[in-house]
Amino acid sequence: GYASPDDVLRMIKDGEIAMIDLRFTDLPGLWQHFSVPPRAISADSFANGIGFDGSSIRGFQEIQESDMLVVPDPTTAFLDPFTEAPTLVLICNILDPASGQPYSRDPRFIAQKAETYLKATGIGDTAYFGPELEHFVFNGVHYDQGTNYGYYEIDAVEANWKARDGTGLGHKLRPKEGYFPVPPSDTLQDARTRMVTLLERIGIEVEAHHHEVATGGQGEIDMRFATLTRMADSVMIYKFVVKNVARSRGMTATFMPKPLFGDNGSGMHVHQSIWRKDHPIFAGDGYAGSSEAMRYYIGGLLKHAPALLAICAPTVNSYRRLVPGFEAPVNLGYSRRNRSAACRIPMYSSNPRSKRVEFRCPDPSCNPYMAFAAMLMAGLDGIRSRINPGEPIDKNLYDLPPMERAAIPSTPASLAEALDALEADCKFLLAGDVFTTDVLETYVDYKRSHEITEIRMRPHPYEFVLYYDV
Ligand code: GLU
Ligand code: MG
Ligand code: MG
Repeated sequence: GYASPDDVLRMIKDGEIAMIDLRFTDLPGLWQHFSVPPRAISADSFANGIGFDGSSIRGFQEIQESDMLVVPDPTTAFLDPFTEAPTLVLICNILDPASGQPYSRDPRFIAQKAETYLKATGIGDTAYFGPELEHFVFNGVHYDQGTNYGYYEIDAVEANWKARDGTGLGHKLRPKEGYFPVPPSDTLQDARTRMVTLLERIGIEVEAHHHEVATGGQGEIDMRFATLTRMADSVMIYKFVVKNVARSRGMTATFMPKPLFGDNGSGMHVHQSIWRKDHPIFAGDGYAGSSEAMRYYIGGLLKHAPALLAICAPTVNSYRRLVPGFEAPVNLGYSRRNRSAACRIPMYSSNPRSKRVEFRCPDPSCNPYMAFAAMLMAGLDGIRSRINPGEPIDKNLYDLPPMERAAIPSTPASLAEALDALEADCKFLLAGDVFTTDVLETYVDYKRSHEITEIRMRPHPYEFVLYYDV
């Protein structure tokens, strides 16, 4: 069972907790934290919050209106497995002290509003999310953030990419062949087992872990599905655990979608389903065991995909992953088997309770609270507006004749395109005030000014290959 404020207060009293660590997520999706001694937490903290200065948090308040409050969610309490002294982590919501209301730019609040909106539509009472986050573990990455193009070099644990481990033992995975030979080819078994052990100790149930297709140390750990906000919390814990286990073993983990040219990138496929009164409304007798509601949900995901991707594949680097030939989706279609389609209906089980759609476009650079909320909003719009997803595509989309392929809409080619699409198509996100115009404008502006423009101003290394001799 999940803890109440009283449970947490008792835990603090009995458990020799040395520190309380309060965490929340900024707009781009990174965990932020500050710590208070146990005596600073009382029953009142859970109702009225604890103050902090939100002015330097990315995407939050301007300096003149920066006082904010965090309100810990007692059901999220867990012991940080990496601290020296026992430290209790509490994931928090944010209050705007001026209004006393939940802060509209708090991503966790957006996720909670999406769950409330689902109930209000009457379509269902519960949405389940099962994300598959892939990641890379490297020995190190060296880069220079300076004024020129930003030199970088990756030191991969698995030899193919500028490896300098110096052992000369010659166990090298060939590109795209990391899925999934045993050790010594897979060098990260122990690291992943450690990650899984800690996740389960925290209370996150894991179904499997494995090496992924890319060399260089790509891995995946699959968590059992959960409800929307709870799963977004788990994604934050997952990234924290993966990064810190890698770090504690002298390596470094990254969730950037495409660190290596020429090999697979890291996706975050998201399995999703809606339930009403313990009944799986996505199960039916249509294509691949789908119901009409599920096909309309897919229609919504596909129709809004260009806008959705501004939130679900939200970095400039995301669009280096969404290219043909690397198991990442490029075409906005759906299929039971086709991994080149944006939506897949997995056929692992004939049990109606496991019927779900897998949306393959997202990647783990997203803010999971906003990404899950946005996908749910797109799918619900599909159901409410009866958006027909068209015919399934059961051929390998990569192999279709060019003319046929051209008829299928593609994923946006860049973050800039996706942001334009979001501006042109944001109504479905504003329903029920789940997203606000303010949060979308702040987000788009942040992405353009801090990421797109900053990258556009820097000469890219490959430009030297192409243009030095002009
Ligand atoms: N790494 C692939 C992606 O970028 C997915 C591989 C898989 O099917 O698990 O989406
Ligand atoms: Mg995978
Ligand atoms: Mg998958």
